Amino acid sequence: MHNIDINVVDMTLDIMKYVLGRITKTNPELGKPMKEEDLRALVGETINEKGIGGEKAFALFKDVLVKATIPIDHPRHLAFVPAAPTRASILFDLVTAASSIHGAYWMEGAGGIYCENEAMEWLVSLTGLPKGAFGVFTSGGTAANLSAMVTAREHWRKDPKNLNKKGIMVTSSGAHSSVKSMAKVIDAEVLLVPTETAMTSRDIENVVSKLSAEAQERVFAVVATGGTTNAGIIDDLAGVATYCENHHLWFHVDAAYGGGALAAPSVRNLFVGIERADSITIDPHKWLFSPYDCGAIIYKKPELARAAHSQEGSYLDIFKDEGAAGFNPSDYQIQLTRRVRGLPLWFSLAMHGTAKYEWAVEQGILLAKLAAQKITEAPHVEMVIPENLSCVLFRRKGWTPEDYREWTYKNLEKKFALVTPTKFKHQGTMETVARFCFINPDTTLKDITDILDTMK
Ligand SMILES: *Cc1c(COP(=O)(O)O)cnc(C)c1O
Repeated sequence: MHNIDINVVDMTLDIMKYVLGRITKTNPELGKPMKEEDLRALVGETINEKGIGGEKAFALFKDVLVKATIPIDHPRHLAFVPAAPTRASILFDLVTAASSIHGAYWMEGAGGIYCENEAMEWLVSLTGLPKGAFGVFTSGGTAANLSAMVTAREHWRKDPKNLNKKGIMVTSSGAHSSVKSMAKVIDAEVLLVPTETAMTSRDIENVVSKLSAEAQERVFAVVATGGTTNAGIIDDLAGVATYCENHHLWFHVDAAYGGGALAAPSVRNLFVGIERADSITIDPHKWLFSPYDCGAIIYKKPELARAAHSQEGSYLDIFKDEGAAGFNPSDYQIQLTRRVRGLPLWFSLAMHGTAKYEWAVEQGILLAKLAAQKITEAPHVEMVIPENLSCVLFRRKGWTPEDYREWTYKNLEKKFALVTPTKFKHQGTMETVARFCFINPDTTLKDITDILDTMK
């Protein structure tokens, strides 16, 4: 199977033909989920001793299996946080795989890591962090948040009085589930600030002041959100920064979704304060048009991350040899062997330039504004709160949670759109509402009005 023969050439041509077809499609068919037993009945056994052959396996994938997936770049996929990788970045994902680059250490991956670092320089420049700040690409926001939390906790534990203590992290109820989940991984307690809007330093003071003196000593970090996943709400980053500076706490900003908007001049001012963060999470696979998976963690002082993450081992010593000295991405996050997953972003940025990125992100913000306008004009729907970034929360007047669920499945059944409801606590009550999240600049105003029409 490592030989080159006519089968390999045929398979390569087949795959390139498929890729070309897929990336030039502007309106890919919206697949829908299928039960495992139904898929098994259609596909049968694929792994046996002799192999079923590339042609057959690929046919099963193209004709059956991929149709049981929902393309996240479909212009009417407005659920969760969709994605819209550029064509250049997708193609370069193929190149990344074909080049077999180990992205952990400069010694092996220098040229690839150089490219990643070029893209990272731009990302860091968007944050406004001071000179010396830098970061690495991770598998996503979860891994980025975890890498930052480990760094923060290790930094806190440098003080011997904290050595055997369980740390407490403060975050808001609007923070992403991964923050709470990763707190379990590092065995930290989470102190939740209940808020329906942007978390402020006053909110933090309120919850922290209710802790015992002993517990207050154990607070080591605040995680603010730069664009909540559910509603696009940005915490009062400047206020939280001041709070953290005054109390010597690690200030992490989770901008996994919203970070792309740092490139958008129309909303950049909403992020003031982010330049004072100790660490920032941004997911290029969300709003910076990279293919999955590509997250990023940026540190104000990367040396603190290196102190927390650098792995030791006699088999690794060679990588730290003088001749191979350079930037080692594995020193700054939890993963050792890694794909150079920033490469697709680099190529697309290099090809298109940063101005096109600004434009494409602004497009998502514009779509949210247009949707809000249409919702306000239509009699059967209304806004729940004003739009934030590219998130629009709205209600269909008179609908129950059941109605929203049925509507979602009906649109999916018709392979028309994927728009899902969410829950939002507004003025004290939790309500099921509809939500749009715009990422794809190919989404049109007609897509929006067509979807609103399905709620009539
Ligand atoms: C999506 C998201 C995450 C998790 O990122 P993954 O890439 O899915 O691991 C974390 N925080 C926020 C704010 C997010 O929107």
